[in-house]
Amino acid sequence: MEALVDRQQGAATIPAVLILLGPPGAGKGTQARMLEERFGLIQLSTGDLLRAAVAAGSEAGLAAKAVMEAGGLVSDEIVLAILKDRMAAPDVKAGVILDGFPRTAGQAAALDALLAEAGQRVTAAISLEVDDLAMIARVAGRYTCADCGEGYHDAFKLPETSGTCDKCGGTAFKRRADDTADTARARLEAYHAQTAPLIAHYRALGVLETVDAMGSIDAVASDLGSIVSRVSA
Ligand SMILES: [Zn+2]
Repeated sequence: MEALVDRQQGAATIPAVLILLGPPGAGKGTQARMLEERFGLIQLSTGDLLRAAVAAGSEAGLAAKAVMEAGGLVSDEIVLAILKDRMAAPDVKAGVILDGFPRTAGQAAALDALLAEAGQRVTAAISLEVDDLAMIARVAGRYTCADCGEGYHDAFKLPETSGTCDKCGGTAFKRRADDTADTARARLEAYHAQTAPLIAHYRALGVLETVDAMGSIDAVASDLGSIVSRVSA
């Protein structure tokens, strides 16, 4: 943890560049926020980066704006230019957690090249590992009280009195149409297909770390914190 604690010393410390990988439902957003608080890291999502750069009117931001207004996809080159600007901002002292970039092995290689220009490299790519079948079961049984929104689950959390909400006594419940085993399975398959090349890329670089994401939020946060402390020291 020394490197991160020493961030108050300023420019001498090379900030950590962390990449967090995890499927929908693995708690990636929650964990990223906890890492931000604990280590003073800054989470950078591609969407936020683009919006901020456009609003700021930077050169790369204006380029992105022109592409988006024409209905196109912002190129990797522009995203990297925006990322480079953002990482040089004074509030990035301890380091960043990248969310949503890179998405492909090509983007990962471009990011490596960008970091290498500054004598840096990806500190760690941390994969939140889930048990697919357990994830599907979690999603598939979810439902909520139609009145107060209290969450329930067919297998894990039934109301104490069948058909009656514990919290408000309501008797109407609702399920989201996409909370089915099929959609959950499809989301996971898409995630694995998209992420496999990234996992291979970072494993080959020797910076891949894995965390069992099926535990409690605090247990996962503790494991993640240990990794961040170790790789940043
Ligand atoms: Zn209720």
